[in-house]
Amino acid sequence: MMDDWTTLGYLVAAVLFILGLKRLSRPRTAVRGNQFGAAGMLIAVMVTLADNAILSFEWIIGGLVLGAAVGALLAVRVQMTAMPELVALFNGFGGGASVLVAAASFIEAADLATGTTRLSAAAALASLIGAVTLTGSLIAFGKLQEALRWSGFPGMRVVSAAGAVAAAVFGTLMVVDAGNALWLWLLIAVGAVLGVMVVSPIGGADMPVVIALLNSLSGMAAVAAGFVLDNSLLIIAGSLVGASGLILTQIMCVAMNRSLPAVMFSPAPSGDGGPSADDVYAGKVRSTSPDDVAMLLESAERVAIVPGYGLAVAQAQHAVRDLARRLEDRGAEVVFGIHPVAGRMPGHMNVLLAEAEISYERLVEMDDINPTFEQTDVTIVIGANDVVNPVARTDPASPIAGMPILDVDKSDVVVIIKRSLSPGFAGIPNPLFAADNSLMLFGDGREAVVEVTKALQQI
Ligand code: NDP
Repeated sequence: MMDDWTTLGYLVAAVLFILGLKRLSRPRTAVRGNQFGAAGMLIAVMVTLADNAILSFEWIIGGLVLGAAVGALLAVRVQMTAMPELVALFNGFGGGASVLVAAASFIEAADLATGTTRLSAAAALASLIGAVTLTGSLIAFGKLQEALRWSGFPGMRVVSAAGAVAAAVFGTLMVVDAGNALWLWLLIAVGAVLGVMVVSPIGGADMPVVIALLNSLSGMAAVAAGFVLDNSLLIIAGSLVGASGLILTQIMCVAMNRSLPAVMFSPAPSGDGGPSADDVYAGKVRSTSPDDVAMLLESAERVAIVPGYGLAVAQAQHAVRDLARRLEDRGAEVVFGIHPVAGRMPGHMNVLLAEAEISYERLVEMDDINPTFEQTDVTIVIGANDVVNPVARTDPASPIAGMPILDVDKSDVVVIIKRSLSPGFAGIPNPLFAADNSLMLFGDGREAVVEVTKALQQI
């Protein structure tokens, strides 16, 4: 009887996951999608714990309350700009959880001599993929926080290749010598080192790809853990995460004009030794004021707004919406140019602008907006840097070489709003700021946009 209820519960949870995922693909339905997913997960946890009946209900409820409290605290306290780091940690913890599940099951089976080839093989895969995901995500977390700039040591690729061979050997030994937990510990240790070595050299424009890939790996580790536990729902949920992460990885690779093997095995150049900020900017940067920008906008018929990571930092989305409305009231056509890796997570700009109720139809993808910049009177770049850096087109030694960019430099005038000439995520100067048709409006993104809107009102 209990089995029937468990199967039914798992079926309901799986359907909720799939419906949730479908709704997450549109900003309008994303909140509902999240709720579906959360409800599915609650059902899955309750059914699994009730079915296994290893723990008493006091422990189950205690765990749920504790988990919900930590989740609620994080949701309230985490800044929108720190969301990508949080997602990186979630990926890592997912991988870590799979390692714990696999290790506990393998050791128990070894102690009781109940191991099977299937359990050992699944435990080996879950331990290896989970350990790579855990440490790889921690490195990605450090890079996203811009606290970690280490990109490894010479010959690291050879050491990584040796590590991969060692992992294959220890994984095989886990299967053929299933009573010996030593192979498990060695495999986890090698996996953890591999995660560090594979992710450390990746940076610059390749980061979005690696984050999507780690997300996918956390799902694959969960699938393997599902086979360890013989739990169909974990296999389904892990497959959904693994497959959607892989699709996102592919989308990011296309957006970056890079193949996955190129990202993994021939990281983009570090950019060390490139032109210095002084070389690029000295004596060439022209700054402007909100009043002057308002004068420019007053006569503009077509205005493009290009948001970047700084828009998220400044929380300027509502101010930008007000500016766009003001311009439209004056008869201008206003479009938003969205680069696929602007910000720090896939879809970052879409989420921000949707929060300010800027209609989705007004957000124009890179490939569609690029041919129109030549007919654009004024482009306002707000807190974007790497995604509008022309060196991606011209300098093969730059860390963003080959990355398609928004061709804002082709519009009549470009106004760039940022606080200083500091570089973006890739850490390189941007010749756009020194171009003849560029004007820098130095200041916080939100405050500057509010000032421009006010000045426009007074004309
Ligand atoms: P960048 O990181 O290139 O530049 C952001 C700019 O915003 C900075 O130069 C900064 O300049 C400015 N800024 C910061 N705070 C403010 C503020 N309060 N007001 C105004 N400006 C501000 O951002 P982009 O969006 O152009 O590019 C994204 C980069 O991140 C790419 O290199 C991409 O590869 C990488 N990345 C993207 C991920 C994704 O999934 N989207 C994931 C991981 C990395 P200043 O300090 O002078 O104000």
